[in-house]
Amino acid sequence: MSDLHLKTLTEIAAGLEAGEFTSLEVTESLLDRIDSSDDTLNAFITVTGEQARATAVAADAARAAGKAGPLNGLPLVHKDIFCTRDVLTTCGSRMLENFVSPYDATVVERLNAAGVVTLGKTNMDEFAMGSSNETSFFGNVRNPWDIERTPGGSSGGSAAAVAARLAPAATGTDTGGSIRQPAALTGTVGLKPTYGRVSRYGMIAFASSLDQAGVITRSAEDAALLLGTMAGFDERDSTCIDHPVPDYSAALQQSLDGLRVGIVRQHFDAGLDDQTGKAVREALAVLESQGAVLSEVDLPNIGLSVPTYYVVAPAECSSNLSRFDGVRFGHRANDASDLFDLYCRSRGEGFGDEVKRRIMTGTYVLSAGYYDAYYLKAQQVRQLIADDFRQAFADVDVIAGPTAPTPAFKLGDKTDDPITMYLNDIYTIGANLAGLPGISTPCGMVDGLPVGLHLVGPHWGEETLLRCAHQYQAATDWHTRCPEAFR
Ligand code: GLN
Repeated sequence: MSDLHLKTLTEIAAGLEAGEFTSLEVTESLLDRIDSSDDTLNAFITVTGEQARATAVAADAARAAGKAGPLNGLPLVHKDIFCTRDVLTTCGSRMLENFVSPYDATVVERLNAAGVVTLGKTNMDEFAMGSSNETSFFGNVRNPWDIERTPGGSSGGSAAAVAARLAPAATGTDTGGSIRQPAALTGTVGLKPTYGRVSRYGMIAFASSLDQAGVITRSAEDAALLLGTMAGFDERDSTCIDHPVPDYSAALQQSLDGLRVGIVRQHFDAGLDDQTGKAVREALAVLESQGAVLSEVDLPNIGLSVPTYYVVAPAECSSNLSRFDGVRFGHRANDASDLFDLYCRSRGEGFGDEVKRRIMTGTYVLSAGYYDAYYLKAQQVRQLIADDFRQAFADVDVIAGPTAPTPAFKLGDKTDDPITMYLNDIYTIGANLAGLPGISTPCGMVDGLPVGLHLVGPHWGEETLLRCAHQYQAATDWHTRCPEAFR
């Protein structure tokens, strides 16, 4: 069958169940596509063809034996931030260029236990620090909609692979927007769950109080399918919350009648590209026509979210990344004269410029003389932002707006100006600071490039977000568009 790559996860599941094709056939067809397209896109750091075939054979056997669960034999790819046993796990860094993980992340372990077939590990910004995938040690990823442009980041490889139909789904992580922003820039669906919904065990840490695992898919239905397996308590992550995991797929069909949707006025101010704003307003009108009730909400401190994030995230990263010392694992410099020289050289050689910038900023804001002025202040503002959301969710069920201020930008356009790059996450970062779930769904095209509608919910609001995105997708076809060169 020649169109297997065009199927969503849900469609593949149905075809496998009906015996129309096997997991091995789907796997072979996608591996062929990766082989022929990835020189252009650079979405993968590692392709695990041999393991994928073996898992697919096992999944087909399990099905024949009547032991197939809903995810059995479904292909996907993992962002290279998730530890995968016996497979290279680089986090996009020279520091971990040769690191083969001795264990699986909980997310990987749960999906494996459900019988998924992992095709490979995707490219990403180094240690997930970036919004364009240009900080990767393994080179930038190209956007399938226009290969001169970035797919966004830091989960750029995952987003590009799904958009180009090299895989129907991918895992990602989101510290400030890294699932939702690349989803918006590639015309895919990106879900970041509530902080604590999915275990962070085995997910290489960037900023632990903000990091959360999620998925990039082509439909809300597929995101619901995966989240049900990934979510849930894990005693190996002390921030993972023991909260019941609902049947996310069951909630999708409910209509939007009476759903209260809040619009944040500040999200439509200067800084938002006109055409992107127009597409998002049209999407809001669609929700309204489906019965949603729109109203304005105020998040008075949301304008402080980017500066707050760029104190908190670097502070946590400077601590998390201190483990890469050239001694225990990761890159080790040759010819060091003493221990201090070994640390300096190993870290100097192993980390790229953006990671160094974050470590230096983080060390500065945590230093004795500046802690109160920067870190403590940022934590206070973070609380104000979380309070703003709490108040807003007293009146609305969902907050809707743009995911990113512009469609995909050209490669190289923002690399010399970190502040402009940082502003790409202006609409997504608030949800991380407040620990809230968010989803981006395709909602239009601007000059041939996709743009995303961003929905944020209260804690544990994933069902509402998925339902809202699913109902919107039932009324529109933006999420089904495929870049011409990858049909
Ligand atoms: N772009 C943001 C940053 O560079 C967010 C990254 C992320 O969510 N991992 O920190």
